[in-house]
Amino acid sequence: MKDLSNQVAASGPRVGFVSLGCPKALVDSERIMTRLRAEGYRLVPRYDQADLVVVNTCGFIEEAVAESLEAIGEALDENGKVIVTGCLGERAETIRQRFPQVLEVSGAHDYEGVMEAVHRHLPPAHDPFLDLLPAEGIKLTPRHYAYLKISEGCNHRCTFCIIPSMRGKLVSRPVGEVLAEAERLVVAGVRELLVIAQDTSAYGVDLGYRDSGWRGRRWRTHLTDLATGLGELGVWVRMHYVYPYPHVDDIIPLMAEGKLLPYLDIPLQHASGRILKQMKRPADSEDTLERIRRWREICPDITLRSTFIVGFPGETEADFEQLLDFLREARLDRVGAFKYSPVEGAEANALAGHVAEAEKEERLARLMELQADISAARLREKVGRVEKVLIDHVEPEAGVAIARTRGDAPEIDGVVQVEGAGPFRPGQFLQVRVTGADEHDLWARPL
Ligand code: SF4
Repeated sequence: MKDLSNQVAASGPRVGFVSLGCPKALVDSERIMTRLRAEGYRLVPRYDQADLVVVNTCGFIEEAVAESLEAIGEALDENGKVIVTGCLGERAETIRQRFPQVLEVSGAHDYEGVMEAVHRHLPPAHDPFLDLLPAEGIKLTPRHYAYLKISEGCNHRCTFCIIPSMRGKLVSRPVGEVLAEAERLVVAGVRELLVIAQDTSAYGVDLGYRDSGWRGRRWRTHLTDLATGLGELGVWVRMHYVYPYPHVDDIIPLMAEGKLLPYLDIPLQHASGRILKQMKRPADSEDTLERIRRWREICPDITLRSTFIVGFPGETEADFEQLLDFLREARLDRVGAFKYSPVEGAEANALAGHVAEAEKEERLARLMELQADISAARLREKVGRVEKVLIDHVEPEAGVAIARTRGDAPEIDGVVQVEGAGPFRPGQFLQVRVTGADEHDLWARPL
C-alpha cells in the first residue's frame, strides 16, 4: 500500500488506499483521497490499520489487469473489506466472478460512486476540524511536482485501446478552473506542473474552446491559451501525451522563450502509414519528421519523447524497418517501446496477421538496441554543458542528490546524479555542469 502515514489524521474511520496505474489514475486517487479527508476519514498506510480498503485499478493492458486483480486479492486477504474503482472497474463482471466478496465496484473517475460506496460500508464521523484541508488537495507526488489533469476521456478510436469505451468521450475542464488549480499548487510550493490528459492536444474541442476567466482576463479552453497561462506562473511546465496536431506548433515558441519546458511527450506509436491506418491514428510519419525538424529549428533544446508499439497485427518486416528508419532520422531523445498485446474488447484483436511472440520479442530488442545508441548519443551531447536541474531526493550517506534536467520527466525518463558539496534539498533548483552520461542518465557537479 502507498505509505500515506504523513497524511493520517488523529481520529475518524480509517481507509487504506491502493493506487495503481498511470498518472491519470493517480490524479483520480488524489481526488478521491481529498474527498475522503474532507469528510473526516483517516488514510492509513497498513491493511491491518484500515476499516476498509479502496483499490483504484488499471485495466489498460493485460499485465495491468493482472496486477490489479492481484492487488484486490491481497487487500481481501489482508483486510477483507474492499471497494474497487478505476479503469478495471468498468469490467465489474470480471471482478465479481473472481472475487464475489468485493463490497462495491465503480468505474474510472466515478468519484461520486466511490464516495457513496464508502459511505454505505463505513459512514463518516463528523468532525469539523478534520474538514480543514489544504486548498490544493492531497497530492501523492512529492510536494515539489504535481500532475495537472486537464480533461477526461478521448474522442479517438485507436484500435488497440479501450480507454474511450472505459472513460468515455473527451470532457475538458474549463481553462479558468485548470489555471486556478495550477496557481494554488504553485502557491503551495509546487515547482513543476505535469500536464496530462488522454489527448492533451484535443483540449477544449468538446467545449467549442469556450473562454473563461482567470487573473481578470478571458482565456480560451485551448492548448495554446492554457500553455500561455501556465507560462505566467514561473514554474516548470511539462506537456505530456501531446498528439502532433498542427496547432501544437504554436506552443514551441513558448518553449524557446522559456515559458514552457522544452519538452514534448508525443505518443506516435508507429511510423508505417499502413500500420498507423490499421491503428486508426491520423498522423503521417513524413509530416511528423518535417514538423520535428521545424520544432528543432525554433527550439534547438527541445527534448522529444515518444512511445511505439511493435508487432501490431499485420506489421511486416518492411513496416518495422520503416519504423527503424524513422527513429534513425528523428533521433528522438527518449523512446518507450512495447510489444503489442491484445486487450480484451479492443478492435485490433480482430485484425488479421498476428505477429508471432518470438518475432515481437526480436523486433522489440532491435528497436531498443538502436534507440539506446541514439539516446546515448543525444545525452553525450550534454556533457560539459551547464544545466538547470530540480532535485527530487537526496541520499546524504552517498553525498548525492537525484535530480532532473528540463528534459527529464519524473518516473519515465532518466535522472541526473549530482555529486559534490551539498546541502541539497528536494524541490531545490540548482545549476550544474554535466560531467558524464550513459544511455539513460547523466552525472553532474554543482557549479
Ligand atoms: S488517443 Fe488513442 S490510444 Fe490515446 S486514449 Fe485515445 S483512443 Fe486510446
